[in-house]
Amino acid sequence: MSDSTNNFAQKPQATNYDIIIAGAGCAGLSLLHSILQSPLLSQKSILVLDKTFEKSNDRTWCFWETHPSVFESLVCKKWESISIHKNEFTKQLSTHPFEYKMIQGVDFYNHILQFAKGFSNVHWKEANIHAIEVEEGIGEVHWATGKAKAQLVFSSILPMETLYAMSQSSIQVPFLWQHFKGRLIEFSTPLLDANEARLMDFNVDQKSDTGFMYVLPLTDRQALVEYTLFSPSILNPLEYDKEIDNYLNVHFPQQQYQVLHEEVGAIPMTMQRFDKTSAPIYVIGTLGNAVKASTGYAFKFIQNQVAQIVKALESGKAIQTEVHNTRHQFYDAVLLYILQNKLMEGSEIFKLIFEKNKAATIFKFLSNTSTIWEDIQIMRSLPTRIFLPAAIKVITRRS
Ligand SMILES: Cc1cc2nc3c(=O)[nH]c(=O)nc-3n(C[C@H](O)[C@H](O)[C@H](O)COP(=O)(O)OP(=O)(O)OC[C@H]3O[C@@H](n4cnc5c(N)ncnc54)[C@H](O)[C@@H]3O)c2cc1C
Repeated sequence: MSDSTNNFAQKPQATNYDIIIAGAGCAGLSLLHSILQSPLLSQKSILVLDKTFEKSNDRTWCFWETHPSVFESLVCKKWESISIHKNEFTKQLSTHPFEYKMIQGVDFYNHILQFAKGFSNVHWKEANIHAIEVEEGIGEVHWATGKAKAQLVFSSILPMETLYAMSQSSIQVPFLWQHFKGRLIEFSTPLLDANEARLMDFNVDQKSDTGFMYVLPLTDRQALVEYTLFSPSILNPLEYDKEIDNYLNVHFPQQQYQVLHEEVGAIPMTMQRFDKTSAPIYVIGTLGNAVKASTGYAFKFIQNQVAQIVKALESGKAIQTEVHNTRHQFYDAVLLYILQNKLMEGSEIFKLIFEKNKAATIFKFLSNTSTIWEDIQIMRSLPTRIFLPAAIKVITRRS
């Protein structure tokens, strides 16, 4: 692994900082951006560490919101209509007052790296971190040839191997993966309705779990087509390709297309905690359980987590990294329990929810911002004979 000073690090590196940000992905860079926008915090000495600052377009983030955020200029596409499909069931839903938006990872990384370059108090180090420890109340971050100290360390470095091991040994707490492969394709002729995002098309091989195609048209020729599964283990890459090929053959027979880009990923879906979070070392992002366990969405939760941290730093109050409230975590746990134990098909659960509710109510529910009344509406869409015993099981396991 590289352990070199890159072209961001023009200035001599101190070994003591106010803040160390370990991991410059979505969470680390979001935190950096937010700190640098705070008049009270922007002059803190900050060290940002990552294996590399040469960022690629390794992911696209989709999320929904009612109002533009500070990242609105990075949004490359938004939709006000989504659709769900299962066998003969098809439903189009207006997302109003939400918009479903997409940001390309590389635009996000470069935007923040460029912005932060203007701050001489921000230092950069390319290194493979191998330990983060507490020494006499101070956080210490170690890499092969050095270490740095800070009063506060925010880490998002997540060893995927540890996570895979955890997922295999997790018997008591459900642990599924949301795993996928997507292709950004371009047809030579306009074939797509760019106004509608196909959020979940369950007319694909479920592989005995929950599988769907996610089709996000960027223009009338270009779309991100992603085969996604919620299941305990990751597939061989060729299996995702096979499903995407089949899908495109069925929906666009004989049509030629070019593959512009591919993305692969695996997001943990679990109530398990991955690490401890307490002064002076706080975990953020996926490592800090920002991912919503029942959906795999994390981008907006990471922004909430960062806002919470910055508010605490500004006010001198205790830092709180938990972003999911107890009530919605309970719903997540019940859904995961049902999926893991195959008590009902995931495709049927999502179909019922979308069949009987407005997209806005579902988005609020999935954002953890729904009211109890809205929760009841969602729950009334689902069979009590399955969900009630599962809920009781989850409660009794917890106590
Ligand atoms: C392909 C993909 C697509 C996704 N799409 C969506 C989406 O559409 N919507 C949504 O809400 N969520 C999505 N997610 C989930 C989530 O938003 C992302 O995973 C998000 O990037 C998590 O942010 P993070 O900072 O925790 O991790 P990352 O963004 O992965 O950042 C971790 C950083 O730590 C660095 N690092 C790791 N180990 C070390 C080490 N030992 N030393 C130094 N540096 C290290 C890495 O290089 C990386 O830069 C997606 C995830 C993936 C993988």
